[in-house]
Amino acid sequence: MVTSLRFRILLMVILAMGVFFAPGVAHGQEGATHYTVQPGDTLLLIAQHFHVPMELLAQANGIQDPNLIQVGQTLVIPDAGMVAQAQVQARLQEMAPALARTWRAEGMWAMAPLIQALGWPELSHLAPWATRWAARDAHVPPPLLQVRAPTRIVQGRTATIRITSLSPIPPAGRFQNRDLFFLGEGQDTLGYHFVALIPTGALDKPGDKPLTLRIGPVTWQVPITILAGVYETQHIVLPPSKGKLLAPDKLKAERERLYALWARISGPPRWSQPFRFPIAEGFPRTSPYGTRRSYNGGPVASFHAGSDWGAPEGEPILAPAPGVVVLAENLFVRGGAVILDHGAGVYSNFWHMSRIDVHPGDVVQAGDTLGLVGNTGLSTGAHLHWEVRVNTVAVDPMQWTQTPPVVSNQ
Ligand SMILES: [Zn+2]
Repeated sequence: MVTSLRFRILLMVILAMGVFFAPGVAHGQEGATHYTVQPGDTLLLIAQHFHVPMELLAQANGIQDPNLIQVGQTLVIPDAGMVAQAQVQARLQEMAPALARTWRAEGMWAMAPLIQALGWPELSHLAPWATRWAARDAHVPPPLLQVRAPTRIVQGRTATIRITSLSPIPPAGRFQNRDLFFLGEGQDTLGYHFVALIPTGALDKPGDKPLTLRIGPVTWQVPITILAGVYETQHIVLPPSKGKLLAPDKLKAERERLYALWARISGPPRWSQPFRFPIAEGFPRTSPYGTRRSYNGGPVASFHAGSDWGAPEGEPILAPAPGVVVLAENLFVRGGAVILDHGAGVYSNFWHMSRIDVHPGDVVQAGDTLGLVGNTGLSTGAHLHWEVRVNTVAVDPMQWTQTPPVVSNQ
C-alpha cells in the first residue's frame, strides 16, 4: 500500500519530472480513465494502446492472470501519475544498492523519509539527525532527498556540498556565519541537483561547525568538523620606507573595496581542470599560504592569504585558469594588481606586479600572460604573490593546482 507520506514524496517527484499524458478517452467521475474490454482484446494490446506497462495495468485492476480478462469487463487505466510513480519507484529500487554503497563509503546523508519510502531500515543509523527531523516534521513534504558533504575539512581547504532536492529552488546554506551559494547541476528522475563550494580559511577555528540548509520552513544541520592545518609563524620586519603602507585607514579602504569585488558571483564556473602554475616552474616557494604573520614585532593577527614564489622582477605571470579580468591597476598596499574572476565566486589575485598587461573585461585562457613579477606595494623583494578567494575567503591555492573542487558547468 502507498502511505500518504510516500505518496506525497512521489507526487512531488512526478511534479518535478513534468510527466503528463493526454489521454484521448473520456474520464470517469474520479478522474480515472476507464475502458470496456472488446472481443479480441488482450491485456497486452490494451496496455500498449494506452501506453502503460502491462504489469501496472494488471496491478491497478487486481488481475492475477493477464490471460483472464472478459469481454464487457471495465478496466481502470492507470493515469500519468500512477505511471510516473511506478517508473520512479522502479528507478529508485534499481538505484538502491548503488546509492546505499555510496552513502556508506562517502558519508552521504539520506533523508529519513526516503529511507522509509524505499524500505531500507538498515540505513537509518546513517542519518540520526535526519531521523530526528522526520519524527518532528513528518507532516512536511521532504524536499531534500540527499546531501553529500565531507564530515571533516582541514583549515584552508575548499570542499563541496552536493544536494538532491525535489524543489527546483536551491536551498539557503550557511557555514561559519557565511552564506553558501548553490549552483544547479541538472535534473534527473531523482530530483534537482545542486552544488556549493565550502571555503575554509587558515585561521578558521578547529572544531564542530554544523552547516545549515534551509528550504522554506524546514532546516537541516549537516555535521562538519574543521581540523587544524599545519601552518608556521613568520615575523616580518619592514624597512621604514614600506612601514607607511601599514596605515590602518589605507589598509581598511583597500580591503573593503576588494571584499565587495570578491563577494560577487558572476556566473557558472569557468574552470574544468586543475589550475596551472601562474609562473614558470623551478622558482622556490618563499612563503606558503596560511603562514601566521606578525609585522615589525606586532601581534600575530593575520595570515598569509596567498602563496609566494621568489622570482626575479620581469618574470611573466600567467593565468592559472580561464577567467575574466575584473581589476588591473596599482593599489596602495598591494601594488600592481590583477584579479581574475573564474566564476562560481572563485577569484585569483596577483599582487606586487611591476607591469600589468591586461585590462578589466579581458577574457583570458589558462597560460595567457597577465603581466610581470615585481616588488611594488607591501613587499620586501621581487616575488609573485598568488591568492585564491572563494566567496571572499582566502583558501590554499595549491589545492586548486592538484584537486580543485569540481562543479559541473550547467
Ligand atoms: Zn604573498
